Amino acid sequence: MRPQTLDDFVGQAEARANLRVFIESARMRSEAMDHTLFYGPPGLGKTTLAQIMARELGVGFRMTSGPVLARAGDLAAILTNLEARDVLFIDEIHRLNPAVEEVLYPALEDFQLDLVIGEGPAARTVRIELQPFTLVGATTRLGLLTTPLRDRFGIPTRLQFYTEAELALIIARGARLMNIPAEDAGIAEIARRARGTPRIAGRLLRRVVDFALVEGDGRLTRTLADSALTRLGVDHLGLDGADRRYLTLLAEHYGGGPVGVETIAAALSEARDAIEEVIEPYLLQQGLLARTPRGRMLASRAWTHLGLTAPRPPGQ
Ligand code: ADP
Repeated sequence: MRPQTLDDFVGQAEARANLRVFIESARMRSEAMDHTLFYGPPGLGKTTLAQIMARELGVGFRMTSGPVLARAGDLAAILTNLEARDVLFIDEIHRLNPAVEEVLYPALEDFQLDLVIGEGPAARTVRIELQPFTLVGATTRLGLLTTPLRDRFGIPTRLQFYTEAELALIIARGARLMNIPAEDAGIAEIARRARGTPRIAGRLLRRVVDFALVEGDGRLTRTLADSALTRLGVDHLGLDGADRRYLTLLAEHYGGGPVGVETIAAALSEARDAIEEVIEPYLLQQGLLARTPRGRMLASRAWTHLGLTAPRPPGQ
Protein backbone atom coordinates (compact mmCIF):
# COMPACT_ATOMS: atom_id res chain seq x y z
CA MET A 1 0.00 0.00 0.00
CA ARG A 2 2.95 2.33 0.40
CA PRO A 3 3.18 4.99 -2.31
CA GLN A 4 6.34 4.48 -4.36
CA THR A 5 6.96 7.93 -5.84
CA LEU A 6 6.64 11.55 -4.72
CA ASP A 7 3.78 11.95 -7.21
CA ASP A 8 1.85 9.06 -5.61
CA PHE A 9 2.41 10.47 -2.12
CA VAL A 10 -0.71 12.38 -1.08
CA GLY A 11 -0.54 15.44 1.18
CA GLN A 12 2.40 17.20 2.88
CA ALA A 13 2.43 19.52 -0.14
CA GLU A 14 5.06 21.89 1.18
CA ALA A 15 7.46 19.17 2.32
CA ARG A 16 7.01 17.35 -0.96
CA ALA A 17 7.65 20.43 -3.11
CA ASN A 18 10.85 21.18 -1.22
CA LEU A 19 12.07 17.59 -1.30
CA ARG A 20 11.50 17.49 -5.05
CA VAL A 21 13.90 20.43 -5.47
CA PHE A 22 16.55 19.00 -3.14
CA ILE A 23 16.38 15.55 -4.79
CA GLU A 24 16.64 17.03 -8.26
CA SER A 25 19.56 19.24 -7.27
CA ALA A 26 21.46 16.33 -5.67
CA ARG A 27 20.94 14.34 -8.86
CA MET A 28 22.19 17.19 -11.04
CA ARG A 29 25.31 17.53 -8.90
CA SER A 30 25.76 13.74 -8.61
CA GLU A 31 26.25 14.23 -4.89
CA ALA A 32 24.69 12.72 -1.81
CA MET A 33 21.62 14.67 -0.77
CA ASP A 34 21.89 16.64 2.45
CA HIS A 35 20.94 14.89 5.70
CA THR A 36 17.21 15.09 6.28
CA LEU A 37 15.18 14.90 9.48
CA PHE A 38 11.47 14.08 9.46
CA TYR A 39 9.59 14.82 12.64
CA GLY A 40 5.95 14.53 13.64
CA PRO A 41 3.50 12.05 15.18
CA PRO A 42 3.68 8.34 14.25
CA GLY A 43 2.07 7.09 11.04
CA LEU A 44 2.32 10.31 9.01
CA GLY A 45 4.69 8.93 6.38
CA LYS A 46 8.25 9.48 7.61
CA THR A 47 9.48 6.00 6.64
CA THR A 48 7.55 6.12 3.39
CA LEU A 49 9.12 9.45 2.39
CA ALA A 50 12.61 8.17 3.21
CA GLN A 51 12.07 5.17 0.92
CA ILE A 52 10.71 7.42 -1.81
CA MET A 53 13.77 9.68 -1.51
CA ALA A 54 16.12 6.75 -2.07
CA ARG A 55 14.11 5.58 -5.06
CA GLU A 56 13.94 9.01 -6.65
CA LEU A 57 17.64 9.58 -6.02
CA GLY A 58 18.33 6.21 -7.63
CA VAL A 59 20.38 4.97 -4.66
CA GLY A 60 20.27 2.14 -2.14
CA PHE A 61 18.22 2.24 1.06
CA ARG A 62 19.27 0.91 4.46
CA MET A 63 17.02 1.05 7.47
CA THR A 64 17.68 0.79 11.19
CA SER A 65 16.50 2.46 14.37
CA GLY A 66 17.94 4.29 17.36
CA PRO A 67 17.31 1.60 19.99
CA VAL A 68 18.74 -1.15 17.76
CA LEU A 69 22.12 0.58 17.47
CA ALA A 70 23.32 -0.34 20.95
CA ARG A 71 27.07 -0.04 20.40
CA ALA A 72 29.30 2.19 18.26
CA GLY A 73 30.39 -0.93 16.39
CA ASP A 74 26.80 -1.59 15.25
CA LEU A 75 26.68 1.80 13.56
CA ALA A 76 30.20 1.40 12.16
CA ALA A 77 29.22 -1.90 10.54
CA ILE A 78 26.31 -0.26 8.76
CA LEU A 79 28.17 2.89 7.73
CA THR A 80 31.14 1.05 6.27
CA ASN A 81 28.79 -1.05 4.14
CA LEU A 82 27.04 1.91 2.52
CA GLU A 83 27.66 2.62 -1.13
CA ALA A 84 28.20 6.13 -2.46
CA ARG A 85 25.12 8.40 -1.99
CA ASP A 86 23.01 5.68 -0.31
CA VAL A 87 20.20 6.68 2.03
CA LEU A 88 20.53 5.42 5.60
CA PHE A 89 17.25 5.70 7.50
CA ILE A 90 17.38 5.77 11.30
CA ASP A 91 13.93 5.62 12.89
CA GLU A 92 13.43 6.85 16.47
CA ILE A 93 16.70 8.72 16.20
CA HIS A 94 16.01 10.48 19.52
CA ARG A 95 16.69 7.13 21.20
CA LEU A 96 20.31 6.78 20.03
CA ASN A 97 22.80 5.83 22.69
CA PRO A 98 25.09 8.87 23.37
CA ALA A 99 28.22 6.81 22.58
CA VAL A 100 26.76 5.92 19.18
CA GLU A 101 25.74 9.52 18.58
CA GLU A 102 29.35 10.65 19.14
CA VAL A 103 30.48 8.34 16.36
CA LEU A 104 27.76 9.64 14.09
CA TYR A 105 28.85 13.32 14.20
CA PRO A 106 32.10 13.05 12.18
CA ALA A 107 30.40 10.54 9.90
CA LEU A 108 27.72 13.10 9.06
CA GLU A 109 30.05 16.04 8.78
CA ASP A 110 33.13 14.67 7.04
CA PHE A 111 32.11 11.11 6.08
CA GLN A 112 34.75 9.80 8.47
CA LEU A 113 34.53 7.30 11.25
CA ASP A 114 36.80 7.59 14.29
CA LEU A 115 36.80 4.30 16.13
CA VAL A 116 38.60 3.63 19.38
CA ILE A 117 40.25 0.23 19.41
CA GLY A 118 41.40 -1.40 22.64
CA GLU A 119 41.18 -0.02 26.16
CA GLY A 120 43.28 1.92 28.65
CA PRO A 121 46.80 3.11 27.69
CA ALA A 122 46.88 0.78 24.70
CA ALA A 123 43.75 2.30 23.18
CA ARG A 124 44.15 4.04 19.87
CA THR A 125 41.89 5.69 17.37
CA VAL A 126 41.62 4.56 13.82
CA ARG A 127 40.05 6.71 11.14
CA ILE A 128 37.99 5.12 8.39
CA GLU A 129 36.89 7.01 5.30
CA LEU A 130 33.26 6.50 4.39
CA GLN A 131 31.37 6.89 1.15
CA PRO A 132 29.29 10.05 1.12
CA PHE A 133 25.76 9.15 2.18
CA THR A 134 22.48 10.73 3.20
CA LEU A 135 21.18 10.18 6.70
CA VAL A 136 17.42 10.38 6.99
CA GLY A 137 16.40 10.55 10.62
CA ALA A 138 12.85 10.20 11.89
CA THR A 139 11.54 11.20 15.28
CA THR A 140 8.23 11.70 16.99
CA ARG A 141 9.94 13.92 19.57
CA LEU A 142 12.05 16.71 18.12
CA GLY A 143 12.57 18.13 21.62
CA LEU A 144 14.44 14.99 22.72
CA LEU A 145 17.12 15.34 20.04
CA THR A 146 20.40 16.75 21.28
CA THR A 147 21.26 20.12 19.74
CA PRO A 148 24.47 18.92 18.06
CA LEU A 149 22.57 16.12 16.35
CA ARG A 150 19.70 18.35 15.32
CA ASP A 151 22.13 20.91 13.87
CA ARG A 152 23.67 18.36 11.56
CA PHE A 153 20.48 17.96 9.53
CA GLY A 154 20.48 20.35 6.58
CA ILE A 155 16.84 19.60 5.81
CA PRO A 156 14.59 19.46 8.88
CA THR A 157 11.04 18.71 7.80
CA ARG A 158 7.95 18.72 9.95
CA LEU A 159 5.11 16.43 8.87
CA GLN A 160 1.56 17.63 9.53
CA PHE A 161 -1.68 15.80 10.22
CA TYR A 162 -3.57 15.14 6.97
CA THR A 163 -6.82 16.81 5.98
CA GLU A 164 -9.95 14.70 5.51
CA ALA A 165 -9.77 15.27 1.76
CA GLU A 166 -6.18 13.97 1.65
CA LEU A 167 -7.07 10.94 3.76
CA ALA A 168 -10.04 10.26 1.48
CA LEU A 169 -7.67 10.04 -1.51
CA ILE A 170 -5.43 7.61 0.40
CA ILE A 171 -8.39 5.47 1.48
CA ALA A 172 -9.89 5.44 -2.02
CA ARG A 173 -6.57 4.22 -3.38
CA GLY A 174 -6.43 1.52 -0.69
CA ALA A 175 -9.96 0.36 -1.49
CA ARG A 176 -9.06 0.15 -5.20
CA LEU A 177 -5.97 -1.92 -4.38
CA MET A 178 -8.17 -4.27 -2.31
CA ASN A 179 -10.76 -4.46 -5.10
CA ILE A 180 -13.53 -3.23 -2.83
CA PRO A 181 -16.27 -1.09 -4.40
CA ALA A 182 -16.57 2.01 -2.22
CA GLU A 183 -19.08 4.87 -1.95
CA ASP A 184 -17.56 8.32 -1.62
CA ALA A 185 -19.57 8.81 1.57
CA GLY A 186 -18.19 5.57 3.00
CA ILE A 187 -14.65 6.69 2.28
CA ALA A 188 -15.35 10.12 3.78
CA GLU A 189 -16.67 8.49 6.96
CA ILE A 190 -13.39 6.62 7.47
CA ALA A 191 -11.36 9.74 6.57
CA ARG A 192 -13.21 11.81 9.18
CA ARG A 193 -12.42 9.28 11.88
CA ALA A 194 -8.79 8.47 11.05
CA ARG A 195 -7.14 11.01 13.39
CA GLY A 196 -5.46 12.82 10.50
CA THR A 197 -3.13 9.82 10.13
CA PRO A 198 -2.62 7.61 7.04
CA ARG A 199 -1.55 4.60 9.10
CA ILE A 200 -4.81 4.74 11.06
CA ALA A 201 -6.79 5.32 7.85
CA GLY A 202 -5.27 2.14 6.41
CA ARG A 203 -6.04 0.14 9.52
CA LEU A 204 -9.63 1.35 9.79
CA LEU A 205 -10.16 0.68 6.09
CA ARG A 206 -9.02 -2.93 6.50
CA ARG A 207 -11.34 -3.46 9.47
CA VAL A 208 -14.32 -1.87 7.70
CA VAL A 209 -13.64 -4.10 4.69
CA ASP A 210 -13.71 -7.12 7.03
CA PHE A 211 -17.20 -6.12 8.15
CA ALA A 212 -18.28 -5.34 4.58
CA LEU A 213 -17.23 -8.80 3.38
CA VAL A 214 -18.51 -10.85 6.28
CA GLU A 215 -21.61 -8.97 7.41
CA GLY A 216 -22.41 -6.70 4.46
CA ASP A 217 -22.62 -7.17 0.71
CA GLY A 218 -18.92 -6.52 0.11
CA ARG A 219 -19.42 -2.81 -0.60
CA LEU A 220 -18.02 -0.01 1.50
CA THR A 221 -21.00 2.23 2.21
CA ARG A 222 -21.42 5.05 4.71
CA THR A 223 -23.83 3.07 6.88
CA LEU A 224 -21.50 0.12 6.96
CA ALA A 225 -18.42 2.27 7.75
CA ASP A 226 -20.33 4.06 10.49
CA SER A 227 -21.52 0.90 12.21
CA ALA A 228 -18.17 -0.88 11.84
CA LEU A 229 -16.22 2.07 13.28
CA THR A 230 -18.66 2.44 16.14
CA ARG A 231 -18.25 -1.24 16.94
CA LEU A 232 -14.48 -0.73 16.90
CA GLY A 233 -14.87 1.98 19.54
CA VAL A 234 -13.87 4.82 17.19
CA ASP A 235 -16.16 7.79 17.78
CA HIS A 236 -17.19 10.44 15.27
CA LEU A 237 -14.12 12.60 15.99
CA GLY A 238 -11.90 9.56 15.48
CA LEU A 239 -11.10 9.21 19.18
CA ASP A 240 -10.59 5.68 20.43
CA GLY A 241 -10.86 4.15 23.88
CA ALA A 242 -7.44 5.41 25.00
CA ASP A 243 -8.24 8.99 23.96
CA ARG A 244 -11.57 8.94 25.75
CA ARG A 245 -10.02 7.46 28.89
CA TYR A 246 -7.53 10.32 28.87
CA LEU A 247 -10.20 13.00 28.48
CA THR A 248 -12.55 11.38 30.98
CA LEU A 249 -9.78 11.13 33.57
CA LEU A 250 -9.08 14.85 33.31
CA ALA A 251 -12.77 15.69 33.47
CA GLU A 252 -13.89 13.41 36.26
CA HIS A 253 -10.86 13.28 38.55
CA TYR A 254 -9.18 16.63 38.04
CA GLY A 255 -12.04 18.98 37.21
CA GLY A 256 -10.52 19.53 33.76
CA GLY A 257 -6.99 20.26 35.00
CA PRO A 258 -4.38 21.60 35.00
CA VAL A 259 -2.71 18.22 35.61
CA GLY A 260 0.93 17.25 35.06
CA VAL A 261 1.65 14.63 32.42
CA GLU A 262 3.38 12.35 34.94
CA THR A 263 0.21 12.24 37.04
CA ILE A 264 -1.86 11.42 33.98
CA ALA A 265 0.57 8.68 32.93
CA ALA A 266 0.46 7.09 36.39
CA ALA A 267 -3.33 7.26 36.61
CA LEU A 268 -3.77 5.70 33.16
CA SER A 269 -0.93 3.16 33.62
CA GLU A 270 0.50 4.30 30.31
CA ALA A 271 4.08 5.30 29.49
CA ARG A 272 4.58 9.05 29.46
CA ASP A 273 6.18 8.77 26.01
CA ALA A 274 3.12 7.07 24.57
CA ILE A 275 0.91 9.78 25.99
CA GLU A 276 3.03 12.60 24.62
CA GLU A 277 3.71 11.01 21.23
CA VAL A 278 0.51 9.19 20.39
CA ILE A 279 -2.44 10.51 22.38
CA GLU A 280 -1.82 14.19 22.98
CA PRO A 281 -0.77 15.56 19.56
CA TYR A 282 -4.15 14.83 17.99
CA LEU A 283 -6.14 16.06 21.00
CA LEU A 284 -4.14 19.29 20.90
CA GLN A 285 -4.61 19.66 17.16
CA GLN A 286 -8.36 19.11 17.55
CA GLY A 287 -8.60 21.82 20.20
CA LEU A 288 -9.77 19.34 22.83
CA LEU A 289 -6.78 19.90 25.06
CA ALA A 290 -4.49 22.77 25.99
CA ARG A 291 -0.95 22.61 27.28
CA THR A 292 -0.20 25.21 29.93
CA PRO A 293 2.89 25.77 32.09
CA ARG A 294 0.94 24.23 34.99
CA GLY A 295 -0.15 21.13 33.11
CA ARG A 296 -2.75 19.81 30.71
CA MET A 297 -6.24 21.32 30.64
CA LEU A 298 -9.42 20.24 28.94
CA ALA A 299 -10.78 22.72 26.40
CA SER A 300 -14.51 23.45 26.35
CA ARG A 301 -14.87 21.38 23.18
CA ALA A 302 -13.75 18.30 25.13
CA TRP A 303 -16.45 18.78 27.77
CA THR A 304 -19.05 19.03 25.01
CA HIS A 305 -17.64 15.96 23.29
CA LEU A 306 -17.82 13.95 26.51
CA GLY A 307 -21.37 15.18 27.07
CA LEU A 308 -20.36 16.79 30.36
CA THR A 309 -20.67 20.30 31.74
CA ALA A 310 -17.47 22.17 32.50
CA PRO A 311 -17.22 23.34 36.11
CA ARG A 312 -17.42 27.10 36.62
CA PRO A 313 -14.09 28.73 37.37
CA PRO A 314 -13.94 29.79 41.07
CA GLY A 315 -15.44 33.20 41.80
CA GLN A 316 -17.92 33.20 38.92
P1 ADP B 1 5.87 6.89 10.02
O1 ADP B 1 7.23 6.42 9.58
O2 ADP B 1 5.74 8.39 10.04
O3 ADP B 1 5.41 6.28 11.32
P2 ADP B 1 4.97 5.40 7.69
O4 ADP B 1 5.78 6.01 6.61
O5 ADP B 1 5.39 4.06 8.20
O6 ADP B 1 4.81 6.42 8.92
O7 ADP B 1 3.46 5.35 7.16
C1 ADP B 1 2.47 4.61 7.82
C2 ADP B 1 1.50 3.98 6.83
O8 ADP B 1 0.74 5.00 6.20
C3 ADP B 1 2.17 3.20 5.72
O9 ADP B 1 1.41 2.05 5.49
C4 ADP B 1 2.10 4.12 4.51
O10 ADP B 1 1.92 3.38 3.35
C5 ADP B 1 0.88 4.95 4.78
N1 ADP B 1 1.11 6.33 4.32
C6 ADP B 1 1.78 7.29 4.97
N2 ADP B 1 1.76 8.45 4.30
C7 ADP B 1 1.04 8.22 3.19
C8 ADP B 1 0.63 9.04 2.09
N3 ADP B 1 0.95 10.33 2.06
N4 ADP B 1 -0.10 8.47 1.13
C9 ADP B 1 -0.46 7.19 1.21
N5 ADP B 1 -0.13 6.36 2.23
C10 ADP B 1 0.61 6.86 3.20
